[in-house]
Amino acid sequence: MKIAIPKERRADEARVAASPDTVKKYVGMGFEVVVESGAGEGASLADASFTEAGATIAADAAAALKDADIVLKVARPLTAAEGCDELALMKSGAILISHLAALQSQEQVAAYAKAGVTAFAMELLPRISRAQNMDILSSQSNLAGYKAVLDAAAEYGRAFPMMMTAAGTVPPARVLVLGAGVAGLQAIATAKRLGAVVYAFDVRPAVKEQVESLGGKFVEVEAPAENAETSGGYAKEMGEDYKRRQAEKIAEVLKKTDIAISTALIPGKPAPVLITEEMVKGMRKGSVIVDLAVEAGGNCPLSEFGKVVEKHGVKLVGHANVPSRLAADASLLFAKNLLNFLTLSYDKEAKGLKINWDDEIIKGTALTRDGQVIHPALQAG
Ligand code: NAD
Repeated sequence: MKIAIPKERRADEARVAASPDTVKKYVGMGFEVVVESGAGEGASLADASFTEAGATIAADAAAALKDADIVLKVARPLTAAEGCDELALMKSGAILISHLAALQSQEQVAAYAKAGVTAFAMELLPRISRAQNMDILSSQSNLAGYKAVLDAAAEYGRAFPMMMTAAGTVPPARVLVLGAGVAGLQAIATAKRLGAVVYAFDVRPAVKEQVESLGGKFVEVEAPAENAETSGGYAKEMGEDYKRRQAEKIAEVLKKTDIAISTALIPGKPAPVLITEEMVKGMRKGSVIVDLAVEAGGNCPLSEFGKVVEKHGVKLVGHANVPSRLAADASLLFAKNLLNFLTLSYDKEAKGLKINWDDEIIKGTALTRDGQVIHPALQAG
């Protein structure tokens, strides 16, 4: 069976879906691996590092994808309307494994079915312990949380740690992390290591202990949200009364905050607005907001996708694709997640794939099969 690794063509995407380490493993498992020339460039991986691991190099996407049985990608294929119909380059019967933004791109999911491609959306992987080593959202969010703090530090005109010098004392930065999931917890840990005083807030009361164990102070909203968490561990959308009390509390804390890192997301929905324009006006001049939710609409309506802007004396950082800003590490982890996912369906004797369609992990990620859309979240009605 042939695995293809095409070069990622989306804007702001520097990652690659395989590493020399995973290529070596695939070759050892009996797969043939083809990497498109230059696919690893953005992640500092030369073509030679892939050939040394046992891959062959294809000159372009068409050559890499032409007769591939399995296509590994970081981001969903480009469509004809986006300038290059990547799906058209894949053969009928191919398996596509990637972050497919399936809930937001349902028309494209229908196109995978029509093209006879069996697609697996890695962002829909169930958050169960057996799937932890395949979890692209965790591996990438972790790096994004770290990078968000460094991006904030780069834009902030003051220091993070307290410094007692002969010329006077520099106070520590006060950081508020909104949303203490995977990215938020890493942001808390990173800001602490830089010497900041860190506060954090989340609608899920269960994270209080995790925040405190990292040295953060948990901001409590009176009468915590009832049923804030889904059975999958994700946050739900909150009611109006809770939102009002939460907004009052956040506004109060933001007045004393130098840096806000916001990471709050609700799967399949626009990101909740947590920092309003009024709240930004109430912040100290020179403060920084890093909006990691900017791609899902943003936790602050003033942040702009792909830009750093200044409004009311506050810098708003809305970098696109933050994991890709650490493309080398992000690619290694992403590649490993995909290897672990494929290994789940690996049949040693046949040296190929034998997919167990009843496995919870497969059921959770499989979008299309035999020309049909099969994912329960995408069924009509
Ligand atoms: P996410 O990216 O969907 O959201 C980020 C955070 O924002 C979450 O903590 C969420 O509660 C919070 N949030 C949402 N709306 C909010 C609001 N209005 N105000 C404040 N905060 C808000 O979440 P994630 O980082 O992907 O993590 C989701 C859950 O999955 C967590 O419980 C995490 O521990 C869990 N998880 C489990 C596994 C596993 O394998 N068992 C792996 C990874 C994550």
